[in-house]
Amino acid sequence: MHQKIQNWYKAHGRTDLPWRNTDDPYPIWLSEVMLQQTQVKTVLERYYFPFLEKFPTLEALGNAPLDEVLKMWEGLGYYNRAKNLHKTAQILTQTQGSAPALPSKIEELMKLPGIGKNTAHAVAAFAFHQPVPVMEANVRRILCRIHAMEDANDKALWQIAYEMVDRDNPFAYNQAMMDIGATLCTPKAPQCERCPFEHICQGKHDPEHYPVKKRRTVPTREQHIMLNLYNNKLALTKREGKFLHGLWGFPATEVPLCAAEYIGEVTHAYTHFKLTCKVYLYDALEKTEDHYFTPKQIRRLAISKVDEKILNLYLDTVQ
Ligand code: SF4
Repeated sequence: MHQKIQNWYKAHGRTDLPWRNTDDPYPIWLSEVMLQQTQVKTVLERYYFPFLEKFPTLEALGNAPLDEVLKMWEGLGYYNRAKNLHKTAQILTQTQGSAPALPSKIEELMKLPGIGKNTAHAVAAFAFHQPVPVMEANVRRILCRIHAMEDANDKALWQIAYEMVDRDNPFAYNQAMMDIGATLCTPKAPQCERCPFEHICQGKHDPEHYPVKKRRTVPTREQHIMLNLYNNKLALTKREGKFLHGLWGFPATEVPLCAAEYIGEVTHAYTHFKLTCKVYLYDALEKTEDHYFTPKQIRRLAISKVDEKILNLYLDTVQ
């Protein structure tokens, strides 16, 4: 089986991805974090290279202000990822001094902010060539199908993954697993006839059945957003809560001012809920907030996708 996987990877694997052609743990870790919620194409075309150009080393990232890191992350969403990257780089820079490096042990990696079990395994396998498996969504699906598992039980999957990993070639094996999941063993209409696991796969007769999907209803949340305009500038606040922490944003209000004009709504889908923002514009005669910016200045700040949509709605309204 391992030989088949190696052959498949040589013939069909995405071997040219930049993070697969380096041994430097920093860009490997960065790519793992970016790819957690974002497609390869988006990461490759818009985020990976500019981020590394701005912060070429772990040390450069650790010494950078959070605002600049969030700006480079703008549009990728799930900003906790960027904050944890930054926090980890800061910890390593402060504790190790010049030329800091990520640890190679999985247990040590998992003590750092934002590094979970899969990311720690990916860094260990790809940067340090350790004989350990990775377990992202594509790999979970393959394992469930090969073993006809309806329930993707975490403990059982890790045990199977450890039994299956190619200890002689963990790098190519793990990359192949991710590529097979992304290109052949897709959620819908998998191409079993081309799959190197076809001869052992117990779920191939009804692959879409494995694992059984849990139905999930996504709740909707509604917010009133108040655009405070003064002297052609809009008020922004810096987010304090856990969600979108550190980003600039338009303030939400329980009850919009009577004198405010309703200008429309924007919606945004997060993983766990859908957000609808009803947007009001209030042209104030005096300054009531601490921070005001022109639309041009706002474009240079780190803001969330929702706030970007709100800014676009405002510009469409006034133009
Ligand atoms: S044989 Fe089909 S279901 Fe099984 S792992 Fe391959 S693509 Fe997935």
